[in-house]
Amino acid sequence: MARYLSGVCRFCRRERVKLFLKGERCYSEKCVMERRAYPPGQHGQRRSKLSDYAVQLREKQKARRIYGVLEKQFRHIVRDAEQAKGTTGDNLIKLLECRLDNLVYKMGFASSRTQARHLVRHRHFLVNGRIVSIPSYSVRLNEMIEPKERSKKVEVIKNALDSIEKRGLPSWIELDKSKMQGRLVGYPNRDELPNLPVNERSIVELYSK
Ligand code: SF4
Repeated sequence: MARYLSGVCRFCRRERVKLFLKGERCYSEKCVMERRAYPPGQHGQRRSKLSDYAVQLREKQKARRIYGVLEKQFRHIVRDAEQAKGTTGDNLIKLLECRLDNLVYKMGFASSRTQARHLVRHRHFLVNGRIVSIPSYSVRLNEMIEPKERSKKVEVIKNALDSIEKRGLPSWIELDKSKMQGRLVGYPNRDELPNLPVNERSIVELYSK
């Protein structure tokens, strides 16, 4: 499981962009990027020209951090994206977006992907009626995701769902808020993720070397 033991805000500072790793806090004035949007460390405010390789590396790191995927696992996802039909970059985004922890977050059952991963690991979620405790589980079209009956009363899940309107529901997800059930009804197009600060083409180039 992808698990970072120290503060994650430094990742946003490192990439000079908000990666939304901390749920509600990311939308508030408490976000450190509102005050210090430059990399941490003594030379953080220096601007130096990055080589092509450095740019590709940064794009890959951004994607890994946003989706909470470790290096080895990410390499496997890129390999699967290369082997699937279609454009590798689009496939990569599709594979990342269809991870169970990501969908639990996008459906509003968790306030961040980290929290979603934690809840999935602790067996709070059913996929088509069966407990799935693997955050990287790849959800298929029309599979239904819901907290198990007892978990529907868990405060963090209820609170996160209450703020789903603020975040907005993507078009490829259907949600019955009253029943706390979500369904993947399509795959995302890249144009439908305008706020995803990742250049997937650079990532593909990095791995094609
Ligand atoms: Fe921290 Fe979220 Fe702001 Fe990133 S966007 S710096 S994770 S509060």
